Amino acid sequence: MKLNNLPEAFVQATPLLQKIEEAGFEAYFVGGSVRDTILNQPIHDVDIATSAFPAEVKALFPRTIDIGIEHGTVLVLWAQEQYEITTFRTEAAYQDFRRPDKVDFVRSLQEDLKRRDFTINALALQKDGQIIDLFDGLADLDNQVLRAVGNPQERFHEDALRMMRGVRFVSQLGFELEARTFLAIQENHALLAKISVERVMIEFVKMLLGTHRNQALKAFVATECYQYCPGLRPYGEALLRMADLPALPLIKEEAAWVLLLDQLHLNAHEVRPFLKAWKCSNACIRQVQAGYQFLLMRKASDWTDSALYQAGMTTIELVESLLPFIGQDGCLNDVEARYQALPIHQLQDLAVNGRDLLQAFDRPSGPWLKDVLQQLEASVVKRNIANQQEALLLFAQAYLEHAEKSQPKAK
Ligand code: ATP
Ligand code: MG
Repeated sequence: MKLNNLPEAFVQATPLLQKIEEAGFEAYFVGGSVRDTILNQPIHDVDIATSAFPAEVKALFPRTIDIGIEHGTVLVLWAQEQYEITTFRTEAAYQDFRRPDKVDFVRSLQEDLKRRDFTINALALQKDGQIIDLFDGLADLDNQVLRAVGNPQERFHEDALRMMRGVRFVSQLGFELEARTFLAIQENHALLAKISVERVMIEFVKMLLGTHRNQALKAFVATECYQYCPGLRPYGEALLRMADLPALPLIKEEAAWVLLLDQLHLNAHEVRPFLKAWKCSNACIRQVQAGYQFLLMRKASDWTDSALYQAGMTTIELVESLLPFIGQDGCLNDVEARYQALPIHQLQDLAVNGRDLLQAFDRPSGPWLKDVLQQLEASVVKRNIANQQEALLLFAQAYLEHAEKSQPKAK
């Protein structure tokens, strides 16, 4: 097969292949960008594989960065773009069902394509548009099939992550796992325990965010891969229920986690340990916790002004985006208008600050300041008082007097 019109990203990278070939080596475009081009889908990163060894690649280009030289990858800076150029390699010495730390560089394209995960990812593209297809990847693309390159048992023993990648590609592409490949995953799913959570998590999140999430969730459960993912072992049925939700897009990773938590019916206190076990970042955990808290609230009732204020726009957007999954209508425009119309959006928007209070009330600084500011903040948000200095100070005075009466020693 020969592609006639290469996407612009390949055209721009063609001089690199030319330069490597002029020096007497082979070079090809490989990986996801070749697959996605044939599927008529947009491509992200253009990856290049070559018979040149890393030192030989570095000698050809003036600006390079060693990003993974022990794996054979050199980053080449070229015309405002960056390209990963990786030497053909085999990964002969697998230990422990994980990708090996060391690789052997080879001069043969066939050897390199042989160690790739699925036939549709084992295509190479020449600069003239010719596709090299040593493992019938084109037929599998045509038939929408995910088939391991070679013997699936061996491939999943070499690197168990490939099983999660398989399920992830089901979600992104809507393809079926070919029967032997499926059975090999089912048989070897426990090997996932050997893989670092970080690598599994990347594939899991891509699976949740993929267009064909429901189909992938079913494969994830049927192959039992879920049993060796953090915190999911008791939840096979819940995951299958999740696979029956409407096939709508999720707006981002945090939304995917919140939807998952909701389907698993986790309690608030279980959320953090669950996400920690997945090694989510603290920023992600914070956003997911807030999203889950307000989703539960929103399922039961409409937003109050206080809830809108506490949640903030990022969380509001996340929550509204999830309502259609659970049979409720999200109406982001209306809710956003209500949020924008709030009298204040953060404590700093209050017409008085701590210094104003210290000046107005002749008292030493102390916990009362925070207490009063919080009262003012809540009352302004609920529109019980206007956000004007005079009104706020009067309110503060009344509040302090009242507090003193009920707690004479409070300062
Ligand atoms: P994406 O569009 O998500 O980037 P991709 O197929 O390009 O998908 P990458 O992780 O970028 O996935 O990997 C690039 C290529 O490297 C793959 O297409 C595949 O050929 C090969 N590859 C990646 N990970 C593995 C693995 N664990 N085992 C075998 N081959 C792999
Ligand atoms: Mg890629």
